[in-house]
Amino acid sequence: MKRVALPSGEQVPAFGMGTWYMESAGDAAALKAGLDMGIRLIDTAEMYGEGRAEELVGEAIAGRRDQVFVVSKVYPHNASRKGIATACERSLKRMKTDRIDLYLLHWRGNIPFEETVAGFEALRGAGKIRHWGVSNLDTGDMEELWGASQAVQANQLLYNLTRRGIEWDLLPWLRERRIPVMAYSPIEQARLLKNRALVDFGRRHGITPAQAALAWLLAKDDVIAIPKAGNAQHLRENFDSLKVKLAPEQLAELERAFPPPKGPSSLEML
Ligand code: NAP
Repeated sequence: MKRVALPSGEQVPAFGMGTWYMESAGDAAALKAGLDMGIRLIDTAEMYGEGRAEELVGEAIAGRRDQVFVVSKVYPHNASRKGIATACERSLKRMKTDRIDLYLLHWRGNIPFEETVAGFEALRGAGKIRHWGVSNLDTGDMEELWGASQAVQANQLLYNLTRRGIEWDLLPWLRERRIPVMAYSPIEQARLLKNRALVDFGRRHGITPAQAALAWLLAKDDVIAIPKAGNAQHLRENFDSLKVKLAPEQLAELERAFPPPKGPSSLEML
């Protein structure tokens, strides 16, 4: 299983399961099937189904908590020194666990970074979270956060073949500091799978469009891809993208079909 290094030195799986819009028993079964296949990272958030997704994660990881790297996120309005502690307790309870491996600020809100960082560090000191990071923070926000703390372990961002804006300045900024990107909506919520260039690429190289999109992300050393699949067949297909090693000519082909940014742009989010 491919792994990505966090700044702390810990190696975490480069492939994980997203949980946005998961709400049914069938979704918990899909997460369990993923764990059975060997997927070892799950991404969730208190926001998803207002706690429902975390409950399903709890169901899925029951009895094998130690095998899974669990990522969850706190709402910006809960990210005060006190609010983050109670939000974290609620998430732990829903997931029936005593710790979150990586706890992220979901996006930037009005609470000063210093306060959120103090909240994260208190949780880390108490063993309730093992690492903390952020999501949807652009370069300027990262610079400001960096002034408050350099303990940030990841930035979870919208990143796929059709959303390459971060490559202009945010990704280089993160790379300089060895902070990995968690690529969310890596198949653009399935819209990318209908892209004619990608369909054609997959057909010519004997892989599916989803596998092409995911293998492109997984070819990078510092990117963790977290596609969501409630359907077991989709899950297997996506997981198999880890076996796809795109050759330099294939990567070049994708670069031509999905060109990198030619200038700065504001951070895109979903
Ligand atoms: P995504 O993973 O790009 O796409 C998920 C959609 O694609 C689902 O409808 C899924 O359908 C379908 N799908 C998956 N694999 C497929 C395949 N092989 N063939 C056909 N369809 C397939 O989008 P996402 O859920 O937005 O992003 C992934 C995860 O990132 C989220 O679940 C969440 O954990 C995280 N995220 C974070 C943020 C943030 O602000 N930090 C924002 C968005 C997402 P089925 O379920 O039917 O399989």
